[in-house]
Amino acid sequence: MTRKLILLGATGSIGRSARDVIARHRDAFTVTAVVGGSDAPALAAAARETGARYAALADGAALPALREALAGSGIACGAGEGAVMEAVAYEADLVLAAIAGTAGLRPTAAAIRPGRAIALANKESLVSAGAAFMQAASRAGVAVLPVDSEHNALAQALGNGALDDVSAMTLTASGGPFRTWSREAIAAAGPQEASKHPNWSMGAKVTIDSATLMNKGLELIEAHHLFGLEAARLDVLVHPQSIVHGLVSWRDGAVTAGLAAPDMRVPIAHALAPPGMRLDTALPRLDLAAIAALSFEKPDLERFPCLGLAMAALADGGAHPTILNAANEIAVAAFIAGRLDFYGIAVSVEKVCSRMVASEREAPDNVETALAIDERARALTREVLGM
Ligand code: NAD
Ligand code: MG
Repeated sequence: MTRKLILLGATGSIGRSARDVIARHRDAFTVTAVVGGSDAPALAAAARETGARYAALADGAALPALREALAGSGIACGAGEGAVMEAVAYEADLVLAAIAGTAGLRPTAAAIRPGRAIALANKESLVSAGAAFMQAASRAGVAVLPVDSEHNALAQALGNGALDDVSAMTLTASGGPFRTWSREAIAAAGPQEASKHPNWSMGAKVTIDSATLMNKGLELIEAHHLFGLEAARLDVLVHPQSIVHGLVSWRDGAVTAGLAAPDMRVPIAHALAPPGMRLDTALPRLDLAAIAALSFEKPDLERFPCLGLAMAALADGGAHPTILNAANEIAVAAFIAGRLDFYGIAVSVEKVCSRMVASEREAPDNVETALAIDERARALTREVLGM
């Protein structure tokens, strides 16, 4: 029997890695539907490659291009939010949620249905509406399987262990392209320098988040919701080689670590595999002798203030993470567009958080509430940035 899959974000960096894993296991999977943002030729290629029955683009204006690109394939298609929701309603045992950013919230939440599992890459769903998302998943009996490499490593290291026995979970960070740079040099860096990630090849937004270490902060919030651990038991360690992705420290002093080459196909294969099974990714066996040394250091919150802002949001709870996430998305887009300098990201996120959290206290109880807070935070960020 094959596992039926829906791929949300089929054309992105995660989507492509997932398709690579699926292509090696044609007999194990049937892709029923694929979803993308606006790139019609790329989505049509993904649909043809996977043999999906339905392809949906979020961008309604892209429908003619999608129809043309799928002509003769027999694959049905649609465009616009309704079409995305139609894709989410296709039959599936597992949905890969790999849309980038807040745009992923509604489709990912709609993917929660009894009888399915969610392989979650869209960390924004958990940062922005984590409590509501996990509650909905638990009510529907839906397992949320982390695709994010650190969380996937942590889930594997945790195994069937009891949370009461865990003294801490540590997420590692590569440190990004600016790990060894002075504050002055970082301050002068532009989008080009920030986009040169040392170890991972990823989408544009998450790459900038890795340079500011905001990504690690968002991942702390993600871990809090996924594993139900409070801030005091969550930790970050900079590890430039990106071989150890997560560490579970147990109360008896033992530590279980999750190691792998920095390749997203490893956590994706783990999340897509039927429970208890492993899929071959054809990656070479990890050669620790060739890597020779693994090093670790404490993150520097002075040079990477975004991590501290996210830690504060996690400790504060309520709507604070929702606001932080929205402000960060706008600020990162402004940085990529050359309208904001590197530390401007942290400065504007901090401003928006401190202005908004006084009046917006409650954690959103569903995705729509989260999106409403998100929208207000975006508007305030644009105002702060004079956009
Ligand atoms: P990406 O930018 O490469 O791809 C994003 C995907 O989302 C594309 O398929 C795009 O077409 C689609 N999309 C964009 N807007 C959409 C919309 N409005 N509706 C529907 N689809 C839309 O991003 P990525 O790097 O693949 O990241 C995807 C998610 O996975 C993010 O949440 C990211 O934080 C997370 N993640 C990525 C990596 C990585 O290595 N790339 C690692 C860990 C977590
Ligand atoms: Mg990660």
